[in-house]
Amino acid sequence: MTDAASLPARHVTGGGTRVYTLPVRAFPNFRANTYLLVRGDPHAPSYAALVDTGGSGPDNLGDLQAGFAAVRAGYGEGATLGTLTRIVITHPHPDHLGGLSALREHTDAPVAAFHSAAPFIEQPGALQAAWLTPPDAQAVWLGLPPGSELDGRFRRRGSTLSVPHSTPVATPLHDGDLLDDLLHVIHTPGHEGNQICLRVDEVLLSADHLLPLNSPPLMPARFLRGSGLAAYLNSLDRVERLGGVTLALGGHDAPMPDPRARIHALRARTHEKLDGLLAACTHPMTIHDLLPALHPRLRSIQAVLLLDQTAALTEYLAQTGALSETTREDGAGLFTRA
Ligand SMILES: [Zn+2]
Repeated sequence: MTDAASLPARHVTGGGTRVYTLPVRAFPNFRANTYLLVRGDPHAPSYAALVDTGGSGPDNLGDLQAGFAAVRAGYGEGATLGTLTRIVITHPHPDHLGGLSALREHTDAPVAAFHSAAPFIEQPGALQAAWLTPPDAQAVWLGLPPGSELDGRFRRRGSTLSVPHSTPVATPLHDGDLLDDLLHVIHTPGHEGNQICLRVDEVLLSADHLLPLNSPPLMPARFLRGSGLAAYLNSLDRVERLGGVTLALGGHDAPMPDPRARIHALRARTHEKLDGLLAACTHPMTIHDLLPALHPRLRSIQAVLLLDQTAALTEYLAQTGALSETTREDGAGLFTRA
């Protein structure tokens, strides 16, 4: 049933880099893409990089190994986990970083990541120290009813974001770097403050910055450095300005053969959501009040993600002056049309 059992998609870039998409079950029922980049003689590649590692789910490593086996059988590549020369982590979220610990038993390839992502990869628990607003204060600001089921789930979510094992980052990256004489590093905060996209020739490995099926999940900037809608829109503009990118390969789902069109659609969808939110603010409302107004058929499993997203949109409208923010007696943020 895994995609890895079939022939992985391959794209050969203008400069001759072979890019294979290796989907993995990062967690049960949750898929992510990893990418294998190979250069040189297939039997003795001069360069073989794995971009992202999937998650810590039970099928993740097996899916990766099956993907490599399919690349060997289907395309005559010699690449194995053991011959990787590089691992890149696009951003330290569990569905991209979580597979790294298990991979470490099969490869010593040096890990590269954005310099400010390193603490999240090297120090389990770094996230707890990184909150600009601690989870308890986040819940208060959102207006979650104290002691409610959602309040409890929201306050606990911080622990599920952290990564269990520590791995050294050998190569800290900066915006504008050219990694391994091949990969252009583009810092794209928004979805995650330390996220990078990687460009090789006409291909953009877009991580979770550009996704084909949905808008990337966002958190407000006041929760974590580099999060938020203002940063996200700014990163969309940056990526749009890159000339000559004709294929984007994201952290999930299918390839995006028209990256510009996808950027325009993501921007348009964001503005639709902002308009809807503004229209819902008929009287002073908390973010918790706005949730059912914006998502009448909300399933509880989505509630935490959508709270973060609604908070990111609301924060942006307050930053841009469309909403004014006051504080209720209990500390909840109250938003009214300005
Ligand atoms: Zn992801």
